[in-house]
Amino acid sequence: MTISHSLVSLSLVIASYFSQSSATVIRRDDGVPSIRSELGPVLSPEAIIVDSERGNLTEATKRWQVFASPSFDYVVQVANENDIVETVKYANRYSIPFLVVNAGHGEIKSLGGLKKGLQITVRSLKKITVHDNNTATIGGGASNLDITTELWKANKQTVSGTCECVGFLGPLLGGGHGFLQGYHGLAADQLISARVVLANGTIVTASDTSNPKLFWALRGAGHNFGIVTEATVKIYDVPKDDIWYYENFIYQGDSIEAVFGQLNKIKRDTPVQFEHYAVFGRLPQIDPVNALVFFSILYNGPASAADKWVAPFRQFSPIDIQNGTATYPQLSGITGNGINDAICQHENLNRIRYPIYLDRFDPGAGKATFDYFNKTISDHPGLAGSLMLFEGLSTQAVKSVRLDSTAIPHRDYFVLSSPVVTYAPDASLDAIAEDFGRNLRMTLHNASKAEKMHTYVNYAVGEESLENIYGYNSWRVHDLKKHKRAYDPQDRFRWYAPIGV
Ligand SMILES: Cc1cc2nc3c(=O)[nH]c(=O)nc-3n(C[C@H](O)[C@H](O)[C@H](O)COP(=O)(O)OP(=O)(O)OC[C@H]3O[C@@H](n4cnc5c(N)ncnc54)[C@H](O)[C@@H]3O)c2cc1C
Repeated sequence: MTISHSLVSLSLVIASYFSQSSATVIRRDDGVPSIRSELGPVLSPEAIIVDSERGNLTEATKRWQVFASPSFDYVVQVANENDIVETVKYANRYSIPFLVVNAGHGEIKSLGGLKKGLQITVRSLKKITVHDNNTATIGGGASNLDITTELWKANKQTVSGTCECVGFLGPLLGGGHGFLQGYHGLAADQLISARVVLANGTIVTASDTSNPKLFWALRGAGHNFGIVTEATVKIYDVPKDDIWYYENFIYQGDSIEAVFGQLNKIKRDTPVQFEHYAVFGRLPQIDPVNALVFFSILYNGPASAADKWVAPFRQFSPIDIQNGTATYPQLSGITGNGINDAICQHENLNRIRYPIYLDRFDPGAGKATFDYFNKTISDHPGLAGSLMLFEGLSTQAVKSVRLDSTAIPHRDYFVLSSPVVTYAPDASLDAIAEDFGRNLRMTLHNASKAEKMHTYVNYAVGEESLENIYGYNSWRVHDLKKHKRAYDPQDRFRWYAPIGV
């Protein structure tokens, strides 16, 4: 069965015509031929070039958050794989730094090192083809919402990120956490093959049998290796009578120790069906002074089966409880990760994240971080939009994948925590904001008694060591660098959690 949605609109064609209409080679002040006159003619008619002369560069480079963001002089909105090839070759010819951008949620500070670059926007590559053998081929610009929606129409699903507006490939290339990971592993564990434009503009296929080292590196450190134009992944039948029960609690801060204590108590026994999120944040309609704890349980099954796991959390004095049932595609909306939710808006905000994987909840550290979070946002009202997340997706199938079979180093964890320090750009708050995030993370790390800190590459702030992000086995970073030298010797893909050559 083939499902596709063509995004080629008349307006794109017209815009592209104007972007390429110059036949003479126009040179810039520095003697380099203008991108329109040199690159334009070799792009497809649907591709669009945006720069300071034509098009809206600010709009075309808008990102989810603005702290330490890259800056671009040009954008090429590609319409097919060959547009990517030509754009990469053009950028190489004039040593212009480039970055592939899909949904624009990349947060890591290393992105800010890219100045006056060329953005290769892949958002139009959204084609999704469902094959008969429980696989699907997915364009490099599809979003999580595209995947969930299109697969659902075919009664299928796969592991993709939980947030609808985020790209599918961005998360996958670093691992990719999602609601179904307990059943099937991370999004990267679904990858069967990928078509990749390498740094020198050649196209290769990466799979177990073709460029296997690249295939290994793509799954965990993929942002460093190339531009994925399409990926073929495993997909699964939606189980018969599939239903998710959810129960959302709001607590005041003094319940946090009981909630975390209960999570620790059940952590070894919880079934794959059980997932949970806790978030510290302000909701002035309920409490104008203090932060609150929002705690959600998702259970893949009916309320009757969930009750054994959910009931204890009703005893910790919640000030609000809401519950209901949902289908799989509704989960993002229910957890505040829907396309229309605040989290999906590209606003002019700094959002700085300090992630850490933990193998247990420490109730004391939970309370300490809550109190510190609450005090800091009271002392600095500009930071009041900050959040602190504790994501407890189930991990059974994640752990069952051999640790050396992909570049993903962290599979044995119970919870992924991350403060997301949020504020309108204000230089006087920068140092305070960064200390805030660092202190929250260190409090959790110290309480965990873990010798080493482990960080999810896709949430990393960019202050972490390579080992912290890519793993402490001595061979792991060594192998990544070796493969990097083979596939990108000039280090052209060096903006997202760079490995270096
Ligand atoms: C609101 C929010 C929710 C999130 N939810 C989840 C989640 O549920 N699960 C999870 O695992 N992560 C999640 N993340 C983190 C997410 O994995 C990263 O932010 C990811 O990089 C975003 O990809 P993007 O396409 O949205 O952003 P972009 O900024 O467009 O891409 C990020 C980077 O990915 C690379 N990239 C993107 N597309 C391609 C491609 N086709 N080929 C090669 N490289 C590519 C580029 O290096 C780019 O800089 C979330 C982040 C945010 C901000």
